[in-house]
Amino acid sequence: MKYLLVSAIVLFVFWLWRHNREAEHHAAASSRTARSRPAAKVTEMVACDVCEVHLPRSEALIGSRGIYCSDAHRRQAGG
Ligand SMILES: [Zn+2]
Repeated sequence: MKYLLVSAIVLFVFWLWRHNREAEHHAAASSRTARSRPAAKVTEMVACDVCEVHLPRSEALIGSRGIYCSDAHRRQAGG
């Protein structure tokens, strides 16, 4: 009877350990995917003040009067 109780406890602890490991694995997997999403670089889009074309801020020309898609539009706006 004593051995039955001991083996039941051992089985229970083993089951608990496996259950925790699976839970940790799932948590790690989901946090990995959650972390990879914001890691994708967010590009801020801006609109040209003349033609209102949207373009990444890194490619936009910033004049004294606004943001433009090209040098022609910057000159056209007088900025
Ligand atoms: Zn433009």
